[in-house]
Amino acid sequence: MNPMARLRSSLGWKLFFSYLLVVTVAVAVLTSTANFHTSTALNRHIDEMQEALLHGAHAAEDLDASLHAALNEIIAVAALVAILASVIVSVFTVRRIVTPLQSMIAGSQHIAGGDYHQRVPMESRDELGALALSFNQMAEALEQTDQRRLELIGNVAHELRTPLSSIRGTMEALVDGVLPPDSATFLSVQHEVARLQRLVHDLEELSRAEAGQILLHRRAVSGVDLISPAVERLRPQFEDKGVALGVDVPPSLPAAWVDPGRITQVLLNLLGNALQYTPAGGQVSLRAWREDNSLQIAVQDTGIGIEPEHLAHIFERFYRVDKSRSRAGGGSGIGLTISRRLIEAHGGRLWAASPGAGRGSTFTVSLPLAA
Ligand code: ADP
Repeated sequence: MNPMARLRSSLGWKLFFSYLLVVTVAVAVLTSTANFHTSTALNRHIDEMQEALLHGAHAAEDLDASLHAALNEIIAVAALVAILASVIVSVFTVRRIVTPLQSMIAGSQHIAGGDYHQRVPMESRDELGALALSFNQMAEALEQTDQRRLELIGNVAHELRTPLSSIRGTMEALVDGVLPPDSATFLSVQHEVARLQRLVHDLEELSRAEAGQILLHRRAVSGVDLISPAVERLRPQFEDKGVALGVDVPPSLPAAWVDPGRITQVLLNLLGNALQYTPAGGQVSLRAWREDNSLQIAVQDTGIGIEPEHLAHIFERFYRVDKSRSRAGGGSGIGLTISRRLIEAHGGRLWAASPGAGRGSTFTVSLPLAA
């Protein structure tokens, strides 16, 4: 970095040079004022000297006193002008440093008051510029968090409204005698209540996951032991729907360093989605293999697939490709958000791929191996 660039990017060097500038200006002004004022003061001294020599008595003391007075006067006038010049230069340099700090103070007060749109100008490339940049990044992050918070509240309200209005409608119809008080009516209410419970449970999971409060009980678990519980739990549902479930997990796979309960939760979500979005007669396959230092698990289906414009969003909270179908199927649209957070908490990755609508999808999990 050349010296000019280094000077521009370092507040320390700027302060050092501003002090140097103030001192240099003070010395220059002091010297020139002293030079300028010397002839006036000394001429007066020479006049007084001639006067003293004419009168004779106490000539030496008078000459000494008048010389001192002349020197003091020169110093006093020069110092006064030099101080004035230093003050002007200091005000200018201090303002350059203080102004950005003041705008940051004002900005942070706005942010503390809930106005997250505030940004501060980035005028320099030094530490103050870096501070302004971090400040703006922090404001941006806060603004996005606030935006997400508002969206979340809106989404939760929206999700609660549907089952609640369905329960209310059924109850009103029961009271009015429009619906018979039979088990079918009560089952439909029970179904909606179960949906509400699932939603509340998912929301609790989501808030824990987003707050980074997921407690993991990690241990070395073999690939087969990791995958079997989810597969065995869902196999009857695959058979009921008529979707083939193929599992290819070599017993020789190394162990992964995971919380098996949490990974089962993720696999239940992925297999459950694959089952939900694959029509009868379709096929779902689960494969696991080792890649470098990770265990990869892929859930592939021959179902409805995901179009590219949706693929980027399906891990967002409450995102559903087909809003009406998923809601009817009981999905809250936060299963994948929680799954991704759980895998990330393990230091792994979860991603999706699909060749397009009607052409199936593949969800892949990558997990760290046990040492
Ligand atoms: P949901 O509870 O609605 O299934 P998820 O977060 O698990 O919520 O999934 C989000 C959305 O991603 C689903 O609503 C669906 O549109 C899409 N999706 C997830 N898995 C699949 C899949 N295997 N095939 C097609 N679309 C899928």
